[in-house]
Amino acid sequence: MHIPDNNKLYNPEFLQHGYIQIYTGNGKGKTTASLGLAMRALGRGWSVLIVMFTKGGNDYGELISFASLSPDFKDKVKIIQAGLDRIVYSSNISEEDKKQAQLGWKIAKRAIKNDEYQLIILDEANIALDLNLIELSDMLDVLKNKPDDMEIVLTGRNAKPEIIEIADLVSEIKPIKHYWDKGIKARKGIEF
Ligand code: ATP
Ligand code: MG
Repeated sequence: MHIPDNNKLYNPEFLQHGYIQIYTGNGKGKTTASLGLAMRALGRGWSVLIVMFTKGGNDYGELISFASLSPDFKDKVKIIQAGLDRIVYSSNISEEDKKQAQLGWKIAKRAIKNDEYQLIILDEANIALDLNLIELSDMLDVLKNKPDDMEIVLTGRNAKPEIIEIADLVSEIKPIKHYWDKGIKARKGIEF
């Protein structure tokens, strides 16, 4: 396969309108859909920011894949982990969880305001909002005023109605079956 020179792929003359997308619901596929989109956009020479809310540590297959991209592509994707290396629920939230999420949001907010990327993925942002780790009114304000040509994706269960309201695309993934119900926990290569 011929891979075009990455620097020639993103041509500002062809800027197109960017939308706000939400992948929510209790079924599997929200984060993986956003990562697939990141790969697609990178292939077109876009610059991509991924902020992973509520996720820390480096035990994610996607982190290894992105780190293994050729320099041209790797330079166009920035990944920020804004969480601890554990699952956060409403019953185990710590000050550090909040600090991490707020730091991630600060970076995302600055990137949105400064128009630094063509695609910004706020993975598990819905969870961070639902758990009050970041402020809803602040995020609404920033999203409403995003640059016209920037695409922003929020993933995670329990998307806030106020965010759904301002989004342009909302996909709710519904679990018809999930092996979780058979007691099968997250698997390497499939869930992380
Ligand atoms: P993927 O990253 O595979 O696209 P997702 O982003 O749609 O999945 P999340 O809501 O982020 O899914 O859930 C991530 C993890 O939650 C999964 O690794 C899974 O093991 C676990 N999980 C799945 N179903 C349940 C459930 N009913 N209750 C609690 N945890 C679940
Ligand atoms: Mg997810």
